[in-house]
Amino acid sequence: MGRKSDNILTTAFGSPVADDQNSLTAGDRGPVLMQDVHLLEKLAHFDRERIPERVVHAKGAGAYGFFEVTADVTKYTKARFLSTVGKRTEVFARFSTVGGEKGSPDAARDPRGFAVKFYTEEGNYDLVGNNTPVFFIRDPLKFPDFIHTQKRNPKTNLPDPNMFWDFLSLTPESIHQVTILFSDRGTPANFRRMNGYSSHTFKWYNDKGEYFWVQYHLKTDQGIKNLTRQEAIRLCGEDPDHATRDLFDAIERGEYPSWTLEMQILTPEQAADFAWDIFDITKVWPHAEVPPIVAGKLVLNRNPDNYFAEVEQAAFCPGNVVPGIAISPDKMLQARVFSYHDTHIHRLGPNYHLIPVNAPKNAPEVSYQRDGLMRVDSNGGGGPNYWPNSFGGPAPDPGSGEPFFPVEGLAGRHPFRHPNDDFVQAGNLYRKVMTDTDRDHLIGNIVAHLGGAQKRIQMRQAAIFFKAEADYGRRVAEGLGLDVSEVERLAAMSPEERAKATELGAY
Ligand code: NDP
Repeated sequence: MGRKSDNILTTAFGSPVADDQNSLTAGDRGPVLMQDVHLLEKLAHFDRERIPERVVHAKGAGAYGFFEVTADVTKYTKARFLSTVGKRTEVFARFSTVGGEKGSPDAARDPRGFAVKFYTEEGNYDLVGNNTPVFFIRDPLKFPDFIHTQKRNPKTNLPDPNMFWDFLSLTPESIHQVTILFSDRGTPANFRRMNGYSSHTFKWYNDKGEYFWVQYHLKTDQGIKNLTRQEAIRLCGEDPDHATRDLFDAIERGEYPSWTLEMQILTPEQAADFAWDIFDITKVWPHAEVPPIVAGKLVLNRNPDNYFAEVEQAAFCPGNVVPGIAISPDKMLQARVFSYHDTHIHRLGPNYHLIPVNAPKNAPEVSYQRDGLMRVDSNGGGGPNYWPNSFGGPAPDPGSGEPFFPVEGLAGRHPFRHPNDDFVQAGNLYRKVMTDTDRDHLIGNIVAHLGGAQKRIQMRQAAIFFKAEADYGRRVAEGLGLDVSEVERLAAMSPEERAKATELGAY
C-alpha cells in the first residue's frame, strides 16, 4: 500500500521527511548530528549537481516538435520517416552558441549549433548542424587547436584576439566561415530567426541501392534577422539569455517556430564532375548549379518541462543515422562520428542512451550491450548477452545495411588538393551576395575584433581578406590603420614565401 498522500516530501529512497527547515542538533544551540540523514543526503546530492559542461556548445536551449514530409523523396532515400508525404516524426531540437561557457551570453559572435533529433521508427536520426553552411577547418586534426583559440588564454583566462586571429591567419581555408561569422549572420537576432545547415555532405540511398550526395538547408520561416554589433554588445550585457527566453516564450504563446527543409542533391556522376570538392566543409554548392528542392517542414511546439533533464542531458551524434542515410567521406564528419559519442560518454556516462530525451522511443534499443554505470533499464534481463546464440536473441537485419561502396587510393596524410582555391567562395559572398550595408557591417565587425591582435597578425589576416577580394582586404587594412601596399605585397606571396616570412617574425 502506498502513502496516504502523494504530496509528501521524501528522501531519495522514499522515506517521509518530517522537517525540511531545521537540522537535527544536540540541544537547541548544539552541533549538528551525523544521524541527520536527510541533511547529509541533501548536501551530498547538491555537491554533485553539476555534470561536466560540454567542451563546445555549452550554452543552449531546446524544444520538442515534429518534422513533416512535404515532398516525395523516395527516389533518393529509403528512410522510412521520409517515405510518405504528410508523414510526421517527433523531434527534439537544441540550439546553442559554440565557444562560450554555460552562462555566456546568447548574443555572442559565434556560430550557432542547430541540432535535431528525429525519433524515427527505425531508430534516432540526429542532424547535428550549425547556422552556417561551412566551417573554419576541414581536417579534424585541427579541431582541438581551433577550439582552444576560441576559448580562454591559458595564462590570463581571458578571451584572446591574438590566439583567435593567430590561428585563423595561419589557416587560410577558414576565410569563408570567417566572412560569414563576421557578417551580421554571426549574431542572429535569436534562434528562431536563423537557418540551420548540415554543412557536411551526407549520403542518401534508395531501396534499389542507388546513392546520392546531399546537403540539408533548414530555412527559417520566421525570416532571417540579425543583430548589429552594437545591438549584440548591448544584449550581452542587458539580457544575456535573450535567445533562450525568446524561444521559450514564443512556444508558450503558441507562436511555433518552423523551418522549411530544402535539400541539395547530386548524383555520383554529377559529383564526379563537380567544380567543388563536395567533401570539403569549407565550401558550399552554388545554388545555381544545384538548386535546392523542398522536402519537409520542422515545427517546434512544446517546451521541455525540466531544463537539466531534457536540454542539458540531451546528446546528439552525427553518427546516429537510419537506413537510407549514411556518412560521407568528409574527414570532419568522420571524426565527429567518433567525437560526439565519446564526449557524451564522458559527460553523461556509457548508458546515456537510456536518458529519456536520448532514448530511441519509437524503436527501442535491442542489443547485447550490457552493464555499465547507471544502467537503469532491465539490462537485457535474463536473455543471452552474446551473439551468435541459439536462445532466440535478437538477430542482425542484413537488409538494413548501407550498400557496398568503392574506396581506393594510397593510405597517407593527404592534404586537400582540389583545384578550386579557398578564396573564391568568400569573395563571391562579399562581391555578389552582400549589400553595401552588409559589407560596411562586416568590415566594422572585423576591425573591432581584429584590432585587439598584434600588428603582424593583423597584417597576415588582412592579406587573407585581400586574397578573397581586393576591396575587402583594403578596407580591413585601412580600418586597422595598416600599410595597404604592405598587405598587398603579403597577399601576393606564395604560401612558401609567406610561411618563411612568418617564421622570421616579419608577419
Ligand atoms: P546565391 O545567390 O544563390 O545564394 C547566396 C546565399 O547566400 C543566399 O541564398 C543566402 O543563403 C546566403 N546569404 C545571404 N547573405 C548572407 C550573409 N551575409 N552571410 C552568409 N550567407 C548569406 O549564390 P551561390 O549559391 O552561388 O552562393 C554564393 C555565396 O553565397 C557562396 O559563396 C556562399 O558564401 C554564400 N552562401 C551560399 C549558400 C549555398 O548553399 N549555395 C548557402 C549560404 C551562403 P540562405 O538562402 O541559405 O539564407
